[in-house]
Amino acid sequence: MTNDSHGFSTRAIHDGQAFDPTTGAVIPPVYLTTTFVQKAIGDLRNGYEYTRGTNPTRDALQVQLASLEGGRHGLSFASGLAAEDALLRSVLKPGDHVLMGNDVYGGTHRLVSRIHVPWGVTLSTVDASDIDAVRQALRPETSVLWLETPSNPLMRISDIAALAELGHAAGALVVVDNTFATPYLQQPLALGADVVVHSTTKYLGGHSDVLGGAVVLNDDELAEKVGFMQFAAGAVSGPLDAWLTTRGIKTLSLRMDRHSQNAQAIAEALVGHPKLERVYYPGLADHPGHDIAARQMRGFGGMLSIALAGGADAARRFAEATVLFQLAESLGGVESLVNYPAEMTHASVRGTELEVPAGVIRLSVGIEDAADLVDDVLTALA
Ligand code: PLP
Repeated sequence: MTNDSHGFSTRAIHDGQAFDPTTGAVIPPVYLTTTFVQKAIGDLRNGYEYTRGTNPTRDALQVQLASLEGGRHGLSFASGLAAEDALLRSVLKPGDHVLMGNDVYGGTHRLVSRIHVPWGVTLSTVDASDIDAVRQALRPETSVLWLETPSNPLMRISDIAALAELGHAAGALVVVDNTFATPYLQQPLALGADVVVHSTTKYLGGHSDVLGGAVVLNDDELAEKVGFMQFAAGAVSGPLDAWLTTRGIKTLSLRMDRHSQNAQAIAEALVGHPKLERVYYPGLADHPGHDIAARQMRGFGGMLSIALAGGADAARRFAEATVLFQLAESLGGVESLVNYPAEMTHASVRGTELEVPAGVIRLSVGIEDAADLVDDVLTALA
């Protein structure tokens, strides 16, 4: 059940999360069951038959996800890439073209280039922070325009409303990977996008303890196709994973405010540092996408990147020198992480247009005390 008149934080806690009517348990139970007893052959209890098809815990998460993104349909998957694959296979046919931002998550590029392209789809990439470049790159056969903003790892900002208009004029479905921003900071469907995807593994789960992915959209026909893919191909989230994700989502707004404040404090402390060539954070007034980000986001988020003046060697030394920022893939948890994209998250796109410059480090800024995080980064730089 959803209530559109409520604010974001209220919906995050209550939508899809009604107490258990049998016992009054305030937290909806985890339905750890694969199958459901039928009253008679085909006479199901509330439509529940087999967990790959539907499960009450997954349903609770799906209602919550749809509510927070402001979409009619939410579909939850075993991982972000499973969600992306189910969406793309529901939309694409051989001969179609996918146009993708040129610093989207490397795994998204790998999915399309290594799995969908051999099946007959074409793929090209573009700087999606440049509207004219996107206009020129769209083709008559472009069926998907794939955006990620802020982008990964260079924190470029795409103007979702302007690009949705362009994409629609070209007949393309406009998809936004909203993993970095989350629905608390940015609402792509309200800005005109057709579909939002997530790696819920990141901020929505929020505690680095559960993989998951989501597709949220309004179109009933496409939702049915993605729902069929979810059921027929079976990359669903299990009940315990779905439950952990619903729990994480309940504190999303608090966490995102703190992630954003901490990242802003670090970015400001690093600007002009002699060992840095550049700080990439949309909350800085001189970031090229700052004005667009300020217009389409509620806050600037917890991700920031830096380019070390000493190149690859300096970047590698920095990544191994931080203490609170632990060296690991992934992002979006309460704890801070440091990542060397060229050899970690973006190793799969080495040699392509998506290759990340060797001096770049990506920080996932956690919700620890800002002063400790600033100190950790400055000490590692020294
Ligand atoms: N989208 C973004 C922006 C990501 O950072 C990731 C993973 O890092 C994914 C999608 C893929 O998600 P998952 O790892 O849950 O499959």
